[in-house]
Amino acid sequence: MRSLNYDVVVVGGGHAGCEAALASARMNKKTLLITMSIDRIGQMSCNPAIGGTAKGHLVKEIDALGGEMGAAIDKTGIQFRVLNKSKGPAIWSSRAQADMDLYRSYMRKTLEDTPNLDILQDTVASLIIDNNAVVGVNTSLDQSVHSSCVILTTGTFLNGLIHIGERRITAGRAGEPASIELAQALKDYGFQVGRMKTGTTPRLDARSIDFSKLERQDSDPDFVPFSMRTKEMNQKLVPCYITHTNEKTHEVIRSHMHLSPLYSGIITGIGPRYCPSIEDKVVKFPERISHQIFIEPEGYQTHEIYPNGISTSLPIHVQEAFLKTIAGFENVIIMKPGYAIEYDYVQPTELHPTLETKKIANLYFAGQLNGTTGYEEAAAQGLIAGINAALKADGKAPFILSRSESYIGVLIDDLTTLGTNEPYRMFTSRAENRLKLREDNADARLSEYGKKLGLINEEIYVEFKDRIQKMESERARIKGIWLNPTPELNAKLTSFQLPEVSNNVTLEAYLKRPETNIRNLRESGLISNYDLRILRCLEIEVKYDGYIKREETLSDKLKTFDHVWIPKEFNYAKVSGLSREVVEKLKRHNPSTLGQASRISGITPAAVTLLHTMIDRER
Ligand code: FAD
Repeated sequence: MRSLNYDVVVVGGGHAGCEAALASARMNKKTLLITMSIDRIGQMSCNPAIGGTAKGHLVKEIDALGGEMGAAIDKTGIQFRVLNKSKGPAIWSSRAQADMDLYRSYMRKTLEDTPNLDILQDTVASLIIDNNAVVGVNTSLDQSVHSSCVILTTGTFLNGLIHIGERRITAGRAGEPASIELAQALKDYGFQVGRMKTGTTPRLDARSIDFSKLERQDSDPDFVPFSMRTKEMNQKLVPCYITHTNEKTHEVIRSHMHLSPLYSGIITGIGPRYCPSIEDKVVKFPERISHQIFIEPEGYQTHEIYPNGISTSLPIHVQEAFLKTIAGFENVIIMKPGYAIEYDYVQPTELHPTLETKKIANLYFAGQLNGTTGYEEAAAQGLIAGINAALKADGKAPFILSRSESYIGVLIDDLTTLGTNEPYRMFTSRAENRLKLREDNADARLSEYGKKLGLINEEIYVEFKDRIQKMESERARIKGIWLNPTPELNAKLTSFQLPEVSNNVTLEAYLKRPETNIRNLRESGLISNYDLRILRCLEIEVKYDGYIKREETLSDKLKTFDHVWIPKEFNYAKVSGLSREVVEKLKRHNPSTLGQASRISGITPAAVTLLHTMIDRER
C-alpha cells in the first residue's frame, strides 16, 4: 500500500471540489485533490451554462472572495446575458453559456498550475478515522492518504443509478462509475443519508436542426464580467435559439407515460422542484399547451446542442418521437439520450455552518452531496469548505458568512439549520436583504474577507479599493452639483436621450429619476468617465436608496419576529397570497414563532409580512 501525507485532501473534481482545492492550496496548505477521472475535472454534468437567477450572485460572491468560477466563465463563455432586466436591480442576474471543453481545460490547468496543489486520479473508498476525527482516506487502488482535514465533494456519484425508460445503469453520471464503497462507508459512520434524483435532456446534433424556424437570442452588449480579475472579454460570441413544445409533443409524452420510471414508481428519490422533467411539466401543468426550450450550443468545436427545458427519462425511441414534433427538430438526430439519475445525499443538518460534520471532526462536505443542485451552489460550498479546512489545519478560527451579507451565507444557513428534502437551489427570494445582496456590490460586501484570507492578491485588492473610493467620491460630488433648467442644458440632455430638467435639482436627484440612465450621463460628460462596474453600482445605490433603507428597517424588524407567536392550528392555506410551496413548507415545519417561520428555506419576506398581518388579525 502506498502512503501519502497532505494537510488537506479534497475528494472530487467537480465544481465544489475545484473551489475547495484551490482555496486550500492558495491558503498555503499542502493539498491533494483525488478524483475518479482527471479528464472530467470541472465537468458540467448538465447544462453548459454558469449563472442565472441568484446563481449569478453566487458566482460574483465566489469571485469577490477569491474563488475561480467567475474568471473561468469569463474566459470560456460563448454567450453572455443579464436576466430579469425588466425587473428591479436586486434580481438582475448574469448568465453565460459556456464552451464546456474550454471550461474544463481552464479549470484543470488552473489546478495544475496552482502551487501546493497535487492531483491524483483514484477512487476514495473509505475514511481513516481516529478518535471521532478523520485523519485521511483509503482509495480503491490501495493508496492511503493521511491529512489534517478531508473534504468530500462527491456530487451525484454516491450510489448513483441512471434511468432511461426501463433500463437502469449504476453510474455517477453518464459514462462514469458510481461511488459505491464510499456511499456505504458514510451510512456505516451513521450519517443521515437520503435519496434524491435529477435529470438531463437528450443532446442533439446541431446539423439536424432547422434554425430558420427558431427565434434567435444574442448576447447583451455592455455585459459586466463575472470576475474582478477580468480586464477584457473579446472572444467570439454565438447565438442561442428558442423553440417550444406543442400539444402533439405532450400527446406523445402522455401516451408513453407508463414507460417513464418517474411515473411507473421506479424512481423514489425527490427531484428538483424548479427543474422539472418534461414528463412532470406535462402532468403537473395540463393546462399549458406549450413549454419553452432554449437551444444552447455546448462549444465552438462541437455540434452538440443542449435543448434546455426537456429533461426526460423516457425510453430513447419516445425521446426521439416527441422531439420530432417540435418546430425545428423535425429531422433531429440524438447524440446522447436524456436520463434521470438517483443518488444518495447527506442531510446537511449534519453539518456546522463551516461545513464540517458534527459527527466526525475535520471532515467537511460540500456540493450536491449536501442536497443542493447546481454548479454555483456547489462551488460556493466548496470555497467555504476549502477555506475552513485550511483554517482548521492551521488551528485558526473558522470563517462563517452571515445571511445579511451574502447569498453564500443564506445558502449555508438554510442547509445547516433547516436541512432539505428536495434538491435545493438558490433564489433571490430566499434572502431577506436582497436589495443589499446584489451582484454589482458583491466585491464591496466580501472582498475584504478574500484579502484577509489570502485569496485575493494585492493587485486585485488595490483595484477594488480604487473602485470603492471612486464610487464614494463620485456620489459625494453629484450631491453637490446643481442642474439649472437652461435651454442649453436641456438641449444637451435631450441630445443624449436624457430627460429635461424643469427646476433646480442636484445631479444626484436627477439620477434618481427612472428615465435617467448613467451610461448616457457619462457620455454627456456630467458623470465621471469611470468603468461601468463602478457606475452601475452607483446608479443603483442612488436610484434605490429609499428602498434599500426600508429593507434595512424591515430586516431589523424581522429580528423582533422571534417574539410573535403563531397560534396553534393556524390555517396557512387561508392566507391569500401565499404560494402552494410556502403553505406546504409552513405546514411541514410547523414553526412556533414568526421568526422561525421567516428562517424556513423558501419563505420570503413578502410571505412573512402576509403572515404577520393575518396573525395580528386573529389576535
Ligand atoms: P459533481 O460535479 O457531480 O462532481 C463530483 C466529483 O466527485 C466528480 O469529479 C467525481 O469523479 C468525484 N467523485 C465522486 N465520488 C468519488 C470518489 N469516491 N472518489 C474520488 N472522486 C469521486 N444542476 C442544475 O442546477 N440543474 C439541473 O437541471 C441539473 N441537472 C443535472 C442532471 C444530471 C443528470 C446531473 C448528473 C446533474 C445535474 N445537475 C443539475 C447538477 C449539477 O451537475 C451539480 O449540482 C453539480 O455538478 C454539483 O457539483 P459537485 O462538485 O457537487 O459534484
